This record gives sequence, structure tokens and C-alpha cells, in this order.
Amino acid sequence: MSDSEKFFVIHYAEVGLKGKNRVFFEKKLARNIRLSLHGTEYSEVKRLHDRIVVYLKPDTNIVEIENRLRRVMGIAHYEFVVRADKDIAGIKKTALELTKGKTFETLKVETKRSDKAFPLTSPEISREVGGYLIQETGAQADMHNPDLRFWINISHNDTYIYTDKLQGIGGLPVGVSGKVLVMLSGGIDSPVAAWQMIKRGAKAVFIHFYSYPYTDKASLEKVMDLARILSESNYRSVVYLVPFGDLQQIIVTKTPAPYRVLLYRRFMTRIAQHVAALVDAEALVTGESLAQVASQTLPNLRSIEAIAEIPILRPLIGFDKVEIIEKAEEIGTFDVSTLPHQDCCSLFVPKHPATHASHAELNKAEKGLDTTTLVEEAIQRLEKQVISFSYE
Ligand code: ATP
Ligand code: MG
Repeated sequence: MSDSEKFFVIHYAEVGLKGKNRVFFEKKLARNIRLSLHGTEYSEVKRLHDRIVVYLKPDTNIVEIENRLRRVMGIAHYEFVVRADKDIAGIKKTALELTKGKTFETLKVETKRSDKAFPLTSPEISREVGGYLIQETGAQADMHNPDLRFWINISHNDTYIYTDKLQGIGGLPVGVSGKVLVMLSGGIDSPVAAWQMIKRGAKAVFIHFYSYPYTDKASLEKVMDLARILSESNYRSVVYLVPFGDLQQIIVTKTPAPYRVLLYRRFMTRIAQHVAALVDAEALVTGESLAQVASQTLPNLRSIEAIAEIPILRPLIGFDKVEIIEKAEEIGTFDVSTLPHQDCCSLFVPKHPATHASHAELNKAEKGLDTTTLVEEAIQRLEKQVISFSYE
């Protein structure tokens, strides 16, 4: 270990991690931690054999680092650790420092002593330090359910102390599960769907279809803002913007009204598939949830999917709207999602959309359209935006 006096020790869930896989996983996690801590005054992020350590400088803003680590995908839990002098007076002093800024009424001290040359036994150390902390803070001892726990670890090289484990977000480091193309609207659902996939280690690339100049530009601005928020976990993010209004016009004039929304969705899927191939994404992701709206009934999901050549993943399929909203608030996208905008799918929407359109019916409905050319034209008008990740 380095000589740093203060550091965070980061643990990940190790299920299924062996050999080469584990090194790949750890390297990604360490890299992502560095990206997340960009701009803070940490000193070093280092991989040790089953953990990652973030060493700090004396004047590092610890709260800021703790907040950022809390949101790094792939961290199961982590602790803030302080090194102490290797004598009972030093341990007491450092333990007391760790209580600063914390509210608690009860405490417990636990000690692990692998250096048997240390003059006191583990229970003796716990008792001494616990008694001192109680005296200094007015807290009481609670051996079963304390508000605050102290762990003292005395090894041959080091003596260090930490308090409660901090809960990480879980999941997998972004990038270990490959890449997906997320169909991002300006609504509430799709950013949450993106977040769920990012949490499982998928790198998200975004695609948005807009109807400007038939609508205002609000959806474009919202989507960029949403992608920016998601980039806090996804890091550098690419957004593809596809003008969709002209294609919608053609669908409106050439196909029966009840099928419009489904045909919009089929064309979006076709175009998205091309982009997925372009960026090496293995699947499309949508914010669809079963039966939430007419286009999301099982028959309609099926007839949209019928033209897809790669998997369409729908992480929210079993979520209720209230659950999605809760999650959107938690991840910070809700306020942007609920700003007003004209959704491109709500443009020219018929009064009575089909709820049970079959693949054959949709094929028939779009028979008069030159699908290949329309998709190619849309691809040619594609615009690429890059969001370089930053916390500022
Ligand atoms: P959201 O809140 O994500 O907009 P929604 O409940 O409004 O979802 P729909 O408008 O039917 O549902 O869209 C279903 C899914 O289709 C969205 O979650 C999104 O993944 C995709 N989608 C819809 N409109 C667009 C668009 N303009 N650009 C990209 N993807 C879109
Ligand atoms: Mg929508």
C-alpha cells in the first residue's frame, strides 16, 4: 500500500468473476472510477487483488468523492478508511476523528488483529477504544444494532480504522457487457430504460427521431440534456439524431390512419438497426412497458418486432408507470423528461389507433412504401453529436 493516510476501499460483487474475466472487469471498474472522479483531488486509483483503492490527498473533498462513488456502476459497497498510529493512543485519536460530522446515539467497536505482537488482544482494544469514544461523544454501547460501527484492523504493516460500509449502486462496470443502441425519446421511460442497461454494464449509444420543423425543437434539446445526465454513468456518449418528419408525412399520406404509430415505430426500428450495425451495438433498447399505451400491447410489440433483425430489449416491460417515475426521479432525469415537448409519435396520431395489428396487416399497410429507399434517405441525413463526459 502507498503511504496515503486516507483512502476509500471499494468492493465489487464477485459472482462469476474468474481469471481473465476478473482482470477485464477490474480494469474497467478502475477506469470508470477514474472517469467519475475526474476533477476531484484524489491521489491514485489502484487495483489490489480483490478490491480497488482510491488514495486521497490530505485536503481532498471526501464528501464529493463519496457522492461520486455512490453512483459508479459496479460498486457493491465501499468504505472510507483512515490510517492510525500503531498504538492505542493513536487508534483512539483517529477513531474519534472519524466520528466528526456523524450523528449517532449508539456505537460498537470491532477489532481484527493479525499482528499478534500488538500488546492488547482484539477484545481489549475494542473495549478500550469503545469506552473512550463513549466518554468523548456521549453515545452508548450497543452490541447488536448500533447506529455506528467502527472496525479496527491491525496488521503487520498497518493499522487502520473505518466506519460503516457505504452502499454502492451495484450492477456491473459500464463497458463489460458490450454496446446497445437506446431509442431515446424526450419522455420519462426511455432514459430509465437506458439507465437500467448501463447499470448492467452495457455501453449506451443513443438515437433520437425528431419531427422538427413540423414540431418545435424542444425534443432535441431535451434528449441532449437527458443524454448528458446519463453520461454521468455512461461517460462519453454518442447521440444520433434522425430527421423523421418527412417520413412521417409519407406514412400519413400513404397508409391507413389506425396503423400510423406502429408504422412510425417499424421505420424507427429499421433505421435504428442500421445505426446499430454502424456502431457495433448488439441490441436495441426501448422504454416500452407492457400495455402502457396502444402501441405497447403484446400483438403490437410483436408486429413491430417482426421486422427487427437484432434483439429489442425492453428493460421496463414489467414496470408500472409509478415505478418508472420513481426511478426517473432517483436517477435525475424526471425533471427534464416532464418539460413540455411535442413527441414525434404524437404528431398526426389517429383517434383510434390499432391495438391488435398483426405483422401481415402492417405489411399490407406499408406495401405502397419503398422501405429500403426511405430508410437509406433517413440514414443519409443522420447527425452525430458527442457528449464528452463531465460533472460540471
Ligand atoms: P417514453 O417516455 O420513453 O417516450 P412512452 O411511454 O411515451 O415512452 P412511446 O412514445 O410509445 O412510449 O415510445 C415507446 C418507446 O419508443 C420509447 O420508450 C422509446 O424507446 C421509443 N421512442 C419513441 N419515440 C421516440 C423518438 N422520437 N426517438 C427515439 N425513440 C423513440
Ligand atoms: Mg414517448
